[in-house]
Amino acid sequence: MKIALIAHDKKKEALIAFVKENVDTFKKHGLYATGTTGKKLMEETGLSIHRFKSGPLGGDQEIGALVAKGGIDAIIFFRDPLTAQPHEPDVSALLRLSDVYDVPLATNEGTASAVMHYISINESGVGE
Ligand code: PGA
Repeated sequence: MKIALIAHDKKKEALIAFVKENVDTFKKHGLYATGTTGKKLMEETGLSIHRFKSGPLGGDQEIGALVAKGGIDAIIFFRDPLTAQPHEPDVSALLRLSDVYDVPLATNEGTASAVMHYISINESGVGE
């Protein structure tokens, strides 16, 4: 499966901890991330991740474009609900596309755990 990973700045540590907890599952799949999230995740977990631009520079839209092409199977997007994001329209557009294309999207750790369960029962390997 192909999984996109994104976290707002105040949620990046929480996403890193979540990915570490589930690293055995994540390493079996194709991973994509916005720029800074992907850089930190690769440094901290050793996983190989395709990085797009940073979110404020268009990374959320790049992931959205991949969703529209059928190239993403699940999105884990740890959002910060308490801080205004300068690129909020792009964030909203990505959430909208996940609904248009019925792509599972987790915006917090509770739902992400459920999505990991969904991913682990669909473990058919990287990129499939
Ligand atoms: P970042 O972007 O991983 O480059 O910080 C995430 C976002 O803010 O949407």
